[in-house]
Amino acid sequence: MLDAVPLLRDVFGFDAFRPGQSEIVQAVADGENVLAIMPTGGGKSLCFQLPALMRDGVTVVISPLIALMRDQVRALQEAGVCAGALTSGNTPEETDAVFEALERGELKLLYMAPERLAAGSAEGLLRRAGVSLIAVDEAHCVSQWGHDFRPDYLRIGALRKTLGVPLAAFTATADAETQDEIVQKLFDGAAPRRFLHGFDRPNIHLAFGAKDGPRRQILDFAAARRGQSGIVYCGTRAKTESLARALNDADHSACYYHGGMQAEDRRLVETRFAREDGLIVVATVAFGMGIDKPDIRWVAHADLPKSIESYYQEIGRAGRDGAPAETLTLFGPEDIRLRRSQIDEGLAPPARRTADHARLNALLGLAEALACRRQVLLRYFGEDSGPCGNCDLCDTPPEVFDATTAVRKALSAILRTEEWFGSGHLIDILTGADTDKIRARQHDQLPTYGCGKEYDKRQWQAVFRQMMGHDLVRPDPERHGALRMTEAARPILRGEAEISLRRDTIRKANRHPAVKS
Ligand code: ADP
Ligand code: ZN
Repeated sequence: MLDAVPLLRDVFGFDAFRPGQSEIVQAVADGENVLAIMPTGGGKSLCFQLPALMRDGVTVVISPLIALMRDQVRALQEAGVCAGALTSGNTPEETDAVFEALERGELKLLYMAPERLAAGSAEGLLRRAGVSLIAVDEAHCVSQWGHDFRPDYLRIGALRKTLGVPLAAFTATADAETQDEIVQKLFDGAAPRRFLHGFDRPNIHLAFGAKDGPRRQILDFAAARRGQSGIVYCGTRAKTESLARALNDADHSACYYHGGMQAEDRRLVETRFAREDGLIVVATVAFGMGIDKPDIRWVAHADLPKSIESYYQEIGRAGRDGAPAETLTLFGPEDIRLRRSQIDEGLAPPARRTADHARLNALLGLAEALACRRQVLLRYFGEDSGPCGNCDLCDTPPEVFDATTAVRKALSAILRTEEWFGSGHLIDILTGADTDKIRARQHDQLPTYGCGKEYDKRQWQAVFRQMMGHDLVRPDPERHGALRMTEAARPILRGEAEISLRRDTIRKANRHPAVKS
Protein backbone atom coordinates (compact mmCIF):
# COMPACT_ATOMS: atom_id res chain seq x y z
CA MET A 1 0.00 0.00 0.00
CA LEU A 2 1.23 3.51 -0.77
CA ASP A 3 2.16 5.89 2.06
CA ALA A 4 -0.29 8.59 3.03
CA VAL A 5 2.06 11.49 3.71
CA PRO A 6 3.87 11.68 0.35
CA LEU A 7 0.50 11.47 -1.44
CA LEU A 8 -0.92 14.18 0.81
CA ARG A 9 1.94 16.43 -0.20
CA ASP A 10 2.47 15.52 -3.85
CA VAL A 11 -1.08 14.94 -5.05
CA PHE A 12 -3.08 17.25 -2.81
CA GLY A 13 -0.37 19.79 -2.05
CA PHE A 14 -1.06 19.85 1.71
CA ASP A 15 1.74 20.00 4.22
CA ALA A 16 -0.14 18.44 7.10
CA PHE A 17 -3.31 16.62 7.99
CA ARG A 18 -6.17 18.44 9.55
CA PRO A 19 -7.30 17.27 12.97
CA GLY A 20 -8.81 13.81 12.73
CA GLN A 21 -7.90 13.19 9.11
CA SER A 22 -4.84 11.07 9.68
CA GLU A 23 -6.60 8.47 11.82
CA ILE A 24 -9.58 8.26 9.48
CA VAL A 25 -7.37 7.95 6.39
CA GLN A 26 -5.43 5.12 8.01
CA ALA A 27 -8.55 3.22 9.07
CA VAL A 28 -10.20 3.59 5.66
CA ALA A 29 -7.00 2.61 3.85
CA ASP A 30 -6.72 -0.45 6.09
CA GLY A 31 -10.13 -1.55 4.88
CA GLU A 32 -12.08 -0.95 8.07
CA ASN A 33 -15.73 0.03 7.94
CA VAL A 34 -15.82 3.62 9.08
CA LEU A 35 -18.37 6.22 10.09
CA ALA A 36 -16.75 9.64 10.36
CA ILE A 37 -18.51 12.72 11.61
CA MET A 38 -16.76 15.97 10.80
CA PRO A 39 -18.04 19.52 10.57
CA THR A 40 -18.70 20.99 7.14
CA GLY A 41 -15.45 22.32 5.77
CA GLY A 42 -13.46 20.06 8.07
CA GLY A 43 -11.93 18.14 5.18
CA LYS A 44 -13.99 14.99 4.72
CA SER A 45 -13.29 14.41 1.04
CA LEU A 46 -9.59 13.89 1.62
CA CYS A 47 -10.51 11.07 4.02
CA PHE A 48 -11.75 8.92 1.13
CA GLN A 49 -9.76 10.40 -1.76
CA LEU A 50 -6.41 9.67 -0.16
CA PRO A 51 -7.23 6.05 0.82
CA ALA A 52 -8.56 5.54 -2.71
CA LEU A 53 -5.07 6.33 -4.00
CA MET A 54 -3.37 4.23 -1.35
CA ARG A 55 -5.43 1.12 -2.13
CA ASP A 56 -5.63 -1.07 -5.20
CA GLY A 57 -8.77 -1.01 -7.30
CA VAL A 58 -11.53 1.52 -7.74
CA THR A 59 -13.26 3.52 -5.02
CA VAL A 60 -16.90 4.32 -5.67
CA VAL A 61 -17.98 7.62 -4.18
CA ILE A 62 -21.69 8.14 -3.71
CA SER A 63 -22.75 11.72 -3.27
CA PRO A 64 -26.07 13.50 -3.74
CA LEU A 65 -24.58 16.75 -4.96
CA ILE A 66 -23.82 16.66 -8.66
CA ALA A 67 -22.08 20.04 -8.79
CA LEU A 68 -19.85 19.05 -5.89
CA MET A 69 -18.99 15.74 -7.53
CA ARG A 70 -18.02 17.46 -10.73
CA ASP A 71 -15.85 19.93 -8.81
CA GLN A 72 -14.07 17.15 -7.00
CA VAL A 73 -13.52 15.15 -10.17
CA ARG A 74 -12.11 18.19 -11.91
CA ALA A 75 -9.78 18.96 -8.99
CA LEU A 76 -8.60 15.34 -8.86
CA GLN A 77 -7.97 15.27 -12.60
CA GLU A 78 -6.00 18.49 -12.36
CA ALA A 79 -3.88 16.83 -9.69
CA GLY A 80 -3.20 13.98 -12.11
CA VAL A 81 -5.58 11.47 -10.56
CA CYS A 82 -7.69 9.29 -12.84
CA ALA A 83 -11.21 10.07 -11.61
CA GLY A 84 -14.61 10.25 -13.27
CA ALA A 85 -18.26 10.74 -12.53
CA LEU A 86 -21.43 9.09 -13.77
CA THR A 87 -24.17 11.63 -13.29
CA SER A 88 -27.14 12.93 -15.17
CA GLY A 89 -25.10 16.01 -16.02
CA ASN A 90 -22.58 14.07 -18.12
CA THR A 91 -22.05 14.60 -21.81
CA PRO A 92 -21.93 11.31 -23.79
CA GLU A 93 -18.19 11.91 -24.27
CA GLU A 94 -17.62 12.18 -20.52
CA THR A 95 -19.50 8.97 -19.90
CA ASP A 96 -17.51 7.19 -22.64
CA ALA A 97 -14.26 8.40 -21.10
CA VAL A 98 -15.27 7.00 -17.72
CA PHE A 99 -16.07 3.59 -19.19
CA GLU A 100 -12.84 3.52 -21.16
CA ALA A 101 -10.78 4.37 -18.09
CA LEU A 102 -12.61 1.62 -16.18
CA GLU A 103 -11.91 -0.85 -18.97
CA ARG A 104 -8.21 0.00 -18.96
CA GLY A 105 -8.18 -0.51 -15.19
CA GLU A 106 -6.90 3.01 -14.67
CA LEU A 107 -9.79 4.66 -12.90
CA LYS A 108 -9.15 5.24 -9.17
CA LEU A 109 -12.28 7.14 -8.15
CA LEU A 110 -15.71 6.74 -9.64
CA TYR A 111 -18.28 9.26 -8.43
CA MET A 112 -21.90 8.23 -8.75
CA ALA A 113 -25.17 9.89 -8.00
CA PRO A 114 -27.42 7.65 -5.86
CA GLU A 115 -30.04 7.59 -8.63
CA ARG A 116 -27.57 5.70 -10.74
CA LEU A 117 -27.67 2.81 -8.28
CA ALA A 118 -31.29 2.26 -9.25
CA ALA A 119 -30.30 1.38 -12.82
CA GLY A 120 -30.28 -2.39 -13.25
CA SER A 121 -26.80 -2.31 -14.74
CA ALA A 122 -25.12 -0.56 -11.83
CA GLU A 123 -24.27 -3.55 -9.72
CA GLY A 124 -22.80 -5.58 -12.58
CA LEU A 125 -20.84 -2.56 -13.72
CA LEU A 126 -19.33 -2.04 -10.28
CA ARG A 127 -18.54 -5.69 -9.87
CA ARG A 128 -16.68 -5.82 -13.19
CA ALA A 129 -14.91 -2.57 -12.37
CA GLY A 130 -13.00 -4.10 -9.48
CA VAL A 131 -14.43 -1.86 -6.80
CA SER A 132 -12.45 -2.21 -3.57
CA LEU A 133 -14.03 0.51 -1.44
CA ILE A 134 -17.34 2.38 -1.19
CA ALA A 135 -17.30 5.92 0.15
CA VAL A 136 -20.58 7.58 1.02
CA ASP A 137 -20.62 11.34 1.31
CA GLU A 138 -23.49 13.07 3.13
CA ALA A 139 -24.36 9.71 4.68
CA HIS A 140 -27.23 11.26 6.67
CA CYS A 141 -29.21 11.23 3.40
CA VAL A 142 -30.02 7.63 4.29
CA SER A 143 -32.06 8.85 7.24
CA GLN A 144 -35.77 8.72 6.54
CA TRP A 145 -36.46 11.22 9.27
CA GLY A 146 -34.05 13.86 8.10
CA HIS A 147 -35.00 16.46 5.51
CA ASP A 148 -32.18 15.39 3.18
CA PHE A 149 -33.59 11.88 2.74
CA ARG A 150 -32.65 10.26 -0.57
CA PRO A 151 -34.54 6.99 -1.13
CA ASP A 152 -31.78 5.67 -3.38
CA TYR A 153 -29.35 5.82 -0.48
CA LEU A 154 -31.21 2.80 0.90
CA ARG A 155 -29.68 0.73 -1.93
CA ILE A 156 -26.14 1.32 -0.69
CA GLY A 157 -26.29 -1.23 2.12
CA ALA A 158 -27.22 -4.01 -0.27
CA LEU A 159 -24.51 -2.91 -2.68
CA ARG A 160 -21.92 -3.16 0.09
CA LYS A 161 -23.03 -6.69 0.83
CA THR A 162 -23.00 -7.91 -2.76
CA LEU A 163 -19.64 -6.35 -3.51
CA GLY A 164 -18.21 -7.49 -0.17
CA VAL A 165 -15.99 -4.44 0.21
CA PRO A 166 -15.44 -2.01 3.09
CA LEU A 167 -17.56 1.11 3.35
CA ALA A 168 -16.65 4.51 4.69
CA ALA A 169 -19.52 6.88 5.49
CA PHE A 170 -19.13 10.61 6.08
CA THR A 171 -21.47 13.21 7.45
CA ALA A 172 -21.50 16.47 9.37
CA THR A 173 -24.67 15.50 11.22
CA ALA A 174 -23.73 14.46 14.69
CA ASP A 175 -26.97 13.55 16.43
CA ALA A 176 -27.06 10.06 17.84
CA GLU A 177 -30.32 9.03 16.18
CA THR A 178 -29.05 9.80 12.69
CA GLN A 179 -25.81 7.99 13.43
CA ASP A 180 -27.72 4.92 14.54
CA GLU A 181 -29.81 5.02 11.42
CA ILE A 182 -26.69 5.24 9.25
CA VAL A 183 -25.24 2.22 11.03
CA GLN A 184 -28.50 0.29 10.51
CA LYS A 185 -29.01 1.15 6.87
CA LEU A 186 -25.48 1.22 5.52
CA PHE A 187 -23.69 -1.32 7.70
CA ASP A 188 -26.60 -3.62 8.39
CA GLY A 189 -26.19 -2.91 12.09
CA ALA A 190 -22.57 -4.17 12.25
CA ALA A 191 -20.74 -1.45 14.15
CA PRO A 192 -18.29 0.47 11.99
CA ARG A 193 -15.35 2.22 13.57
CA ARG A 194 -16.67 5.64 14.56
CA PHE A 195 -14.78 8.90 14.45
CA LEU A 196 -16.43 11.86 16.08
CA HIS A 197 -14.00 14.63 16.59
CA GLY A 198 -14.01 17.70 18.61
CA PHE A 199 -10.93 19.50 17.41
CA ASP A 200 -10.32 21.48 20.55
CA ARG A 201 -7.39 20.84 22.84
CA PRO A 202 -8.52 23.04 25.71
CA ASN A 203 -5.45 22.49 27.92
CA ILE A 204 -3.14 24.09 25.36
CA HIS A 205 -2.69 27.83 25.85
CA LEU A 206 -2.45 29.65 22.52
CA ALA A 207 -0.37 32.77 21.96
CA PHE A 208 1.15 34.63 19.03
CA GLY A 209 3.75 37.36 19.13
CA ALA A 210 5.09 39.76 16.55
CA LYS A 211 8.83 39.22 16.22
CA ASP A 212 10.73 41.79 18.20
CA GLY A 213 14.13 40.34 18.92
CA PRO A 214 12.98 36.76 18.33
CA ARG A 215 15.97 35.03 19.90
CA ARG A 216 15.46 36.92 23.13
CA GLN A 217 11.70 36.21 22.97
CA ILE A 218 12.35 32.48 22.74
CA LEU A 219 14.97 32.59 25.49
CA ASP A 220 12.55 34.47 27.75
CA PHE A 221 9.78 32.00 27.01
CA ALA A 222 12.06 29.05 27.80
CA ALA A 223 13.46 30.73 30.92
CA ALA A 224 9.95 31.04 32.34
CA ARG A 225 9.57 27.27 31.85
CA ARG A 226 12.95 26.08 33.02
CA GLY A 227 13.20 22.36 33.55
CA GLN A 228 10.15 21.53 31.43
CA SER A 229 10.29 19.54 28.21
CA GLY A 230 9.65 21.68 25.17
CA ILE A 231 10.08 21.97 21.41
CA VAL A 232 11.15 25.03 19.46
CA TYR A 233 10.29 24.87 15.77
CA CYS A 234 12.49 26.87 13.38
CA GLY A 235 12.23 27.60 9.68
CA THR A 236 15.80 26.61 8.82
CA ARG A 237 18.33 23.98 9.82
CA ALA A 238 20.99 26.56 10.58
CA LYS A 239 18.69 28.31 13.01
CA THR A 240 17.99 25.11 14.96
CA GLU A 241 21.72 24.77 15.59
CA SER A 242 22.35 28.36 16.62
CA LEU A 243 19.26 28.58 18.81
CA ALA A 244 20.11 25.29 20.55
CA ARG A 245 23.55 26.77 21.28
CA ALA A 246 21.99 29.93 22.70
CA LEU A 247 19.68 27.88 24.94
CA ASN A 248 22.58 25.76 26.19
CA ASP A 249 24.55 28.95 26.88
CA ALA A 250 21.60 30.05 29.00
CA ASP A 251 21.95 26.85 31.04
CA HIS A 252 19.12 24.92 29.48
CA SER A 253 19.54 21.38 28.32
CA ALA A 254 18.90 21.70 24.57
CA CYS A 255 19.76 19.88 21.37
CA TYR A 256 18.92 20.41 17.73
CA TYR A 257 17.22 18.17 15.19
CA HIS A 258 16.78 18.45 11.44
CA GLY A 259 16.57 16.40 8.27
CA GLY A 260 20.20 17.06 7.37
CA MET A 261 21.50 14.98 10.28
CA GLN A 262 22.55 11.35 10.15
CA ALA A 263 19.67 8.99 10.92
CA GLU A 264 21.66 7.71 13.90
CA ASP A 265 22.07 11.18 15.42
CA ARG A 266 18.41 11.91 14.93
CA ARG A 267 17.43 8.70 16.67
CA LEU A 268 19.66 9.65 19.56
CA VAL A 269 17.79 12.93 20.02
CA GLU A 270 14.44 11.14 19.81
CA THR A 271 15.40 8.65 22.54
CA ARG A 272 16.88 11.35 24.77
CA PHE A 273 13.73 13.42 24.39
CA ALA A 274 11.52 10.46 25.25
CA ARG A 275 13.56 9.52 28.33
CA GLU A 276 14.90 12.75 29.79
CA ASP A 277 12.93 15.30 31.71
CA GLY A 278 13.32 18.92 30.78
CA LEU A 279 15.11 18.53 27.45
CA ILE A 280 14.47 21.20 24.81
CA VAL A 281 14.61 20.09 21.18
CA VAL A 282 15.15 22.86 18.66
CA ALA A 283 13.98 21.43 15.38
CA THR A 284 12.66 21.83 11.90
CA VAL A 285 9.30 20.27 11.07
CA ALA A 286 11.22 17.03 10.46
CA PHE A 287 10.82 16.48 14.21
CA GLY A 288 7.40 15.29 15.15
CA MET A 289 6.25 12.22 13.29
CA GLY A 290 6.10 9.38 15.74
CA ILE A 291 6.83 11.43 18.86
CA ASP A 292 4.32 10.41 21.46
CA LYS A 293 5.80 11.94 24.58
CA PRO A 294 2.75 12.78 26.68
CA ASP A 295 4.28 15.45 28.92
CA ILE A 296 5.69 18.00 26.47
CA ARG A 297 4.85 21.17 28.41
CA TRP A 298 5.45 23.75 25.74
CA VAL A 299 5.94 24.31 22.01
CA ALA A 300 7.31 27.52 20.55
CA HIS A 301 7.55 28.59 16.92
CA ALA A 302 10.59 30.76 16.29
CA ASP A 303 9.20 31.25 12.75
CA LEU A 304 5.69 31.27 11.37
CA PRO A 305 4.52 27.75 10.53
CA LYS A 306 3.52 26.81 7.00
CA SER A 307 -0.22 26.69 7.46
CA ILE A 308 -2.93 26.47 10.08
CA GLU A 309 -2.85 22.71 9.64
CA SER A 310 0.88 22.59 10.44
CA TYR A 311 0.40 24.99 13.33
CA TYR A 312 -2.31 22.84 14.84
CA GLN A 313 -0.31 19.68 14.36
CA GLU A 314 2.86 21.17 15.85
CA ILE A 315 1.33 22.81 18.92
CA GLY A 316 -0.78 19.66 19.32
CA ARG A 317 2.34 17.77 20.36
CA ALA A 318 2.20 19.61 23.69
CA GLY A 319 0.10 18.50 26.62
CA ARG A 320 -1.06 15.11 25.38
CA ASP A 321 -1.42 14.15 29.04
CA GLY A 322 -4.18 16.73 29.38
CA ALA A 323 -2.24 18.90 31.86
CA PRO A 324 -1.77 22.59 31.02
CA ALA A 325 0.66 23.31 28.20
CA GLU A 326 1.86 26.57 26.67
CA THR A 327 2.62 27.70 23.17
CA LEU A 328 4.07 30.79 21.54
CA THR A 329 4.18 31.42 17.81
CA LEU A 330 6.32 34.27 16.53
CA PHE A 331 5.73 35.89 13.18
CA GLY A 332 7.18 38.82 11.32
CA PRO A 333 7.19 40.44 7.90
CA GLU A 334 10.16 38.33 6.82
CA ASP A 335 8.14 35.16 7.46
CA ILE A 336 5.31 36.42 5.33
CA ARG A 337 7.64 37.43 2.56
CA LEU A 338 9.41 34.07 2.71
CA ARG A 339 6.21 32.06 2.61
CA ARG A 340 4.85 34.13 -0.26
CA SER A 341 7.96 33.63 -2.32
CA GLN A 342 8.14 29.93 -1.53
CA ILE A 343 4.63 29.65 -2.93
CA ASP A 344 5.28 31.88 -5.94
CA GLU A 345 8.58 30.31 -6.85
CA GLY A 346 7.46 26.74 -6.28
CA LEU A 347 6.69 24.43 -9.16
CA ALA A 348 3.05 23.96 -8.23
CA PRO A 349 0.43 24.68 -10.91
CA PRO A 350 -1.23 28.13 -10.68
CA ALA A 351 -4.46 26.90 -9.10
CA ARG A 352 -2.56 25.29 -6.28
CA ARG A 353 -0.42 28.34 -5.71
CA THR A 354 -3.55 30.43 -5.39
CA ALA A 355 -4.94 28.02 -2.85
CA ASP A 356 -1.64 28.12 -0.95
CA HIS A 357 -1.82 31.90 -0.77
CA ALA A 358 -5.37 31.62 0.52
CA ARG A 359 -4.26 29.19 3.21
CA LEU A 360 -1.43 31.50 4.21
CA ASN A 361 -3.94 34.34 4.48
CA ALA A 362 -6.00 32.24 6.84
CA LEU A 363 -2.94 31.64 9.01
CA LEU A 364 -2.26 35.39 9.04
CA GLY A 365 -5.85 35.94 10.06
CA LEU A 366 -5.21 33.70 13.03
CA ALA A 367 -1.95 35.47 13.82
CA GLU A 368 -3.71 38.84 13.80
CA ALA A 369 -6.96 37.75 15.33
CA LEU A 370 -8.88 40.31 17.32
CA ALA A 371 -10.53 38.14 19.92
CA CYS A 372 -10.26 34.58 21.12
CA ARG A 373 -7.69 32.82 18.99
CA ARG A 374 -9.16 29.42 19.64
CA GLN A 375 -12.47 30.50 18.17
CA VAL A 376 -10.69 31.56 14.97
CA LEU A 377 -8.72 28.32 14.88
CA LEU A 378 -11.73 26.09 15.44
CA ARG A 379 -13.88 28.05 13.02
CA TYR A 380 -11.27 27.39 10.34
CA PHE A 381 -11.86 23.69 10.89
CA GLY A 382 -15.61 24.19 10.79
CA GLU A 383 -16.28 24.06 14.51
CA ASP A 384 -18.14 26.72 16.50
CA SER A 385 -17.23 27.58 20.06
CA GLY A 386 -17.36 30.36 22.63
CA PRO A 387 -14.37 32.40 23.89
CA CYS A 388 -11.92 29.98 25.46
CA GLY A 389 -10.37 31.87 28.35
CA ASN A 390 -7.07 30.13 27.59
CA CYS A 391 -5.37 32.20 24.89
CA ASP A 392 -3.36 35.41 24.84
CA LEU A 393 -6.28 37.43 23.44
CA CYS A 394 -8.72 36.16 26.07
CA ASP A 395 -6.05 37.00 28.68
CA THR A 396 -5.43 40.52 27.36
CA PRO A 397 -7.92 41.85 24.83
CA PRO A 398 -6.15 44.09 22.27
CA GLU A 399 -6.97 47.74 21.63
CA VAL A 400 -9.57 48.03 18.91
CA PHE A 401 -11.32 50.75 16.91
CA ASP A 402 -14.62 50.98 15.09
CA ALA A 403 -13.80 49.92 11.54
CA THR A 404 -17.37 49.61 10.30
CA THR A 405 -17.04 52.33 7.67
CA ALA A 406 -13.73 51.01 6.36
CA VAL A 407 -15.07 47.47 6.16
CA ARG A 408 -18.22 48.64 4.37
CA LYS A 409 -16.14 50.44 1.80
CA ALA A 410 -14.04 47.33 1.27
CA LEU A 411 -17.14 45.13 0.93
CA SER A 412 -18.70 47.55 -1.47
CA ALA A 413 -15.58 47.49 -3.65
CA ILE A 414 -15.81 43.69 -3.66
CA LEU A 415 -19.48 43.64 -4.62
CA ARG A 416 -19.25 46.41 -7.23
CA THR A 417 -16.66 44.31 -9.02
CA GLU A 418 -18.82 41.21 -8.64
CA GLU A 419 -16.41 39.31 -6.39
CA TRP A 420 -13.90 38.76 -9.16
CA PHE A 421 -10.80 40.44 -7.67
CA GLY A 422 -8.12 40.01 -5.03
CA SER A 423 -7.22 42.58 -2.39
CA GLY A 424 -4.46 44.14 -4.52
CA HIS A 425 -6.85 45.40 -7.17
CA LEU A 426 -9.58 46.21 -4.64
CA ILE A 427 -7.14 48.39 -2.72
CA ASP A 428 -6.19 50.14 -5.96
CA ILE A 429 -9.88 50.93 -6.42
CA LEU A 430 -10.33 52.14 -2.82
CA THR A 431 -7.25 54.35 -2.89
CA GLY A 432 -8.04 55.64 -6.36
CA ALA A 433 -4.88 54.28 -7.97
CA ASP A 434 -4.28 54.78 -11.67
CA THR A 435 -3.36 51.38 -13.10
CA ASP A 436 -3.80 49.69 -16.48
CA LYS A 437 -6.15 47.17 -14.93
CA ILE A 438 -8.32 49.93 -13.42
CA ARG A 439 -8.53 51.73 -16.74
CA ALA A 440 -9.08 48.58 -18.79
CA ARG A 441 -12.03 47.58 -16.60
CA GLN A 442 -13.26 51.15 -16.17
CA HIS A 443 -13.14 50.73 -12.44
CA ASP A 444 -12.40 54.42 -12.11
CA GLN A 445 -16.07 54.88 -12.96
CA LEU A 446 -17.19 53.01 -9.84
CA PRO A 447 -18.69 55.01 -6.96
CA THR A 448 -16.18 53.28 -4.66
CA TYR A 449 -13.23 54.48 -6.73
CA GLY A 450 -11.00 56.54 -4.43
CA CYS A 451 -13.47 56.44 -1.54
CA GLY A 452 -10.86 55.03 0.87
CA LYS A 453 -8.07 57.55 0.64
CA GLU A 454 -7.93 57.95 4.43
CA TYR A 455 -5.79 54.80 4.56
CA ASP A 456 -2.75 53.97 2.51
CA LYS A 457 -2.18 50.74 0.73
CA ARG A 458 -0.54 48.95 3.64
CA GLN A 459 -3.24 49.99 6.07
CA TRP A 460 -5.88 48.68 3.69
CA GLN A 461 -3.93 45.43 3.47
CA ALA A 462 -4.16 45.17 7.24
CA VAL A 463 -7.90 45.82 7.06
CA PHE A 464 -8.38 43.14 4.40
CA ARG A 465 -6.23 40.70 6.30
CA GLN A 466 -8.23 41.23 9.46
CA MET A 467 -11.46 40.93 7.52
CA MET A 468 -10.23 37.54 6.45
CA GLY A 469 -9.46 36.69 10.05
CA HIS A 470 -13.06 37.56 10.90
CA ASP A 471 -14.28 35.41 8.05
CA LEU A 472 -16.06 38.35 6.43
CA VAL A 473 -14.35 37.63 3.14
CA ARG A 474 -12.86 34.45 1.82
CA PRO A 475 -10.53 33.94 -1.08
CA ASP A 476 -12.19 31.70 -3.65
CA PRO A 477 -9.72 29.19 -5.10
CA GLU A 478 -12.11 28.72 -8.04
CA ARG A 479 -11.67 32.38 -8.89
CA HIS A 480 -7.90 32.60 -8.51
CA GLY A 481 -8.21 33.75 -4.93
CA ALA A 482 -10.68 36.55 -5.64
CA LEU A 483 -12.26 37.73 -2.40
CA ARG A 484 -15.88 36.87 -1.90
CA MET A 485 -18.12 38.18 0.78
CA THR A 486 -19.41 35.68 3.31
CA GLU A 487 -22.81 35.60 4.96
CA ALA A 488 -21.17 36.92 8.12
CA ALA A 489 -20.46 40.22 6.35
CA ARG A 490 -24.00 40.85 5.20
CA PRO A 491 -25.25 42.52 8.40
CA ILE A 492 -22.27 44.90 8.34
CA LEU A 493 -22.98 45.84 4.76
CA ARG A 494 -26.65 46.37 5.51
CA GLY A 495 -25.80 48.59 8.46
CA GLU A 496 -27.23 46.12 10.96
CA ALA A 497 -23.93 45.34 12.66
CA GLU A 498 -20.67 47.08 13.47
CA ILE A 499 -17.15 45.77 13.42
CA SER A 500 -14.00 46.57 15.32
CA LEU A 501 -10.46 45.90 14.18
CA ARG A 502 -7.16 45.90 15.98
CA ARG A 503 -5.59 49.31 16.29
CA ASP A 504 -1.99 48.14 16.62
CA THR A 505 -2.09 46.37 13.30
CA ILE A 506 -3.30 49.48 11.51
CA ARG A 507 -0.84 51.80 13.17
CA LYS A 508 2.09 49.49 12.65
CA ALA A 509 0.89 48.48 9.24
CA ASN A 510 4.04 49.70 7.54
CA ARG A 511 6.03 47.21 9.57
CA HIS A 512 4.27 44.37 7.78
CA PRO A 513 5.26 44.81 4.18
CA ALA A 514 5.00 42.26 1.39
CA VAL A 515 1.47 41.20 2.22
CA LYS A 516 -0.42 40.72 -0.94
CA SER A 517 -3.67 39.19 -1.97
P1 ADP B 1 -16.08 18.89 3.88
O1 ADP B 1 -16.40 17.89 2.80
O2 ADP B 1 -15.73 18.25 5.18
O3 ADP B 1 -17.08 19.98 4.01
P2 ADP B 1 -13.86 19.44 2.18
O4 ADP B 1 -13.42 18.06 2.02
O5 ADP B 1 -14.56 20.09 1.04
O6 ADP B 1 -14.74 19.61 3.49
O7 ADP B 1 -12.61 20.32 2.61
C1 ADP B 1 -12.74 21.68 2.96
C2 ADP B 1 -11.52 22.43 2.52
O8 ADP B 1 -10.39 22.04 3.30
C3 ADP B 1 -11.13 22.20 1.08
O9 ADP B 1 -10.82 23.44 0.50
C4 ADP B 1 -9.90 21.33 1.17
O10 ADP B 1 -9.04 21.55 0.08
C5 ADP B 1 -9.29 21.80 2.47
N1 ADP B 1 -8.46 20.77 3.11
C6 ADP B 1 -8.82 19.51 3.41
N2 ADP B 1 -7.82 18.86 4.02
C7 ADP B 1 -6.79 19.72 4.11
C8 ADP B 1 -5.45 19.65 4.65
N3 ADP B 1 -4.99 18.53 5.22
N4 ADP B 1 -4.68 20.75 4.55
C9 ADP B 1 -5.15 21.87 3.99
N5 ADP B 1 -6.38 22.01 3.47
C10 ADP B 1 -7.20 20.95 3.53
ZN1 ZN C 1 -9.44 32.44 23.82
